[in-house]
Amino acid sequence: MANTTHIAIIASPGFAHLVPIIEFSKQLVKHHQNFHVTCIIPSLDSPPESSKAYLKALPSFIDFIFLPPINKEQLPQGVYVGQQIQLTVSLSLPSIHEALKSLSSKVPLTALVADLLAFQALEFAKEFGALSYFYFPLSAMILLLLLHMPKLDEEVSGEYKDLTEPIKLQGCVPIFGVDLPDPIQNRSSEYYQHLLKRSKGMLITDGIIINTFLEMEPGAIRALEELGNGKTRFYPVGPITQKRSIEETDESDKCLRWLGKQPPCSVLYVSFGSGGTLSQHQINHLASGLELSGERFLWVLRAPSNSASAAYLETENEDPLKFLPSGFLERTEEKGLVVASWAPQVQVLSHNSVGGFLSHCGWNSILESVQEGVPLIAWPLFAEQKTNAVMLADGLKVALRLKVNEDDIVEKEEIAKVIKCLMEGEEGKGIAERMRNLKDSAANALKDGSSTQTLSQLASHWEYLSGN
Ligand code: UDP
Repeated sequence: MANTTHIAIIASPGFAHLVPIIEFSKQLVKHHQNFHVTCIIPSLDSPPESSKAYLKALPSFIDFIFLPPINKEQLPQGVYVGQQIQLTVSLSLPSIHEALKSLSSKVPLTALVADLLAFQALEFAKEFGALSYFYFPLSAMILLLLLHMPKLDEEVSGEYKDLTEPIKLQGCVPIFGVDLPDPIQNRSSEYYQHLLKRSKGMLITDGIIINTFLEMEPGAIRALEELGNGKTRFYPVGPITQKRSIEETDESDKCLRWLGKQPPCSVLYVSFGSGGTLSQHQINHLASGLELSGERFLWVLRAPSNSASAAYLETENEDPLKFLPSGFLERTEEKGLVVASWAPQVQVLSHNSVGGFLSHCGWNSILESVQEGVPLIAWPLFAEQKTNAVMLADGLKVALRLKVNEDDIVEKEEIAKVIKCLMEGEEGKGIAERMRNLKDSAANALKDGSSTQTLSQLASHWEYLSGN
């Protein structure tokens, strides 16, 4: 494979961390010939079925290697999902090293790119003569926040959630402490200390590739560039999303056939990402809220759990439909469809009968919605989703955010009111229009605009270094 530039990519476990980094690889090999990417994938227990199905259809210039899985029993009980992912990567480091050694004995590696939660693997870059890059699959605002952690940690005493004034990051919408990402809410936790340490080390990589685009986050991207001070380069190359959702199952067909029978822009799509879950009490309120709103809906339902990220790294076996309030399916037969656990989200969002998306505000879901110009209702659950919700609702004004009561429940009346407002109200029209504009900007960034140019600069740099 002479004249080929070889890149190794380290994903982290879990579908939502695999897709963006592989889609980035696809963009790279699509636009720049003579690149070859090998993606090394750690996993916890066995890799999720969704990941396996997704990897079946890769272009020939991308290979993947599943590492021997880490056993769940090897991890401490009850740790935060992000920490589980990261510990899995830590325990996989010997096999990552082995895979890189074997790869570099066959081909020269120009760059090693690691997902945010697989950052430890970047320590091997030097040994194999490769440059090191972070692939940051979240917003520029979250990256800026992470890089500001040492300063915040110094300036603020007590927990961030108790701050009475919002935090003002340069170029970003002000944000109250309660809306900061979950992992930094408990400052005495081990994970917080770990993030703090990592934050200090992030700027010593050769570059940070971010799945966002200039027109969506101009302020945060400029602030990052100032922070990098010409030493660390930032590469906003997004929005990078799946082109089609995986698997053509009967359930997927059912969703699309049902959507085909609905009027244009009439359906609210309701989904909490690849693993978000609600309590039984909250499911009851959501069901009643949908019913009360009188709007059409397509709801991807999971079995209840009291932990919002319960299904993130798990395969579900229970039929979630049995947890719906009695008679709900019959009463809403004319208006709605409930599907179990999974829908072909990308196709759903691109369907012309979908007019809104009630989302947990995972970054991939947000980007997919932006690419299709679908306005949002923000119902953040865990991780950095509350921060994303603030950006969407208060900053970009392309979403309405649901209010949570003192018991942490979104009540049915609030759900019905906000759904109606998005689907039919004046405010909803403004939100939909701003989302359409953002969709156009995203399309331009990818066509021959900011993101495509940024990716080309990075690819040319790699080609030059590899002697091609
Ligand atoms: N997804 C899907 N169908 C579903 C739920 C999720 O295809 O029923 C996909 C969705 O299109 C997105 C990803 O799973 O690409 C979820 O990523 P996101 O960052 O939104 O949330 P997370 O799963 O990390 O909480």
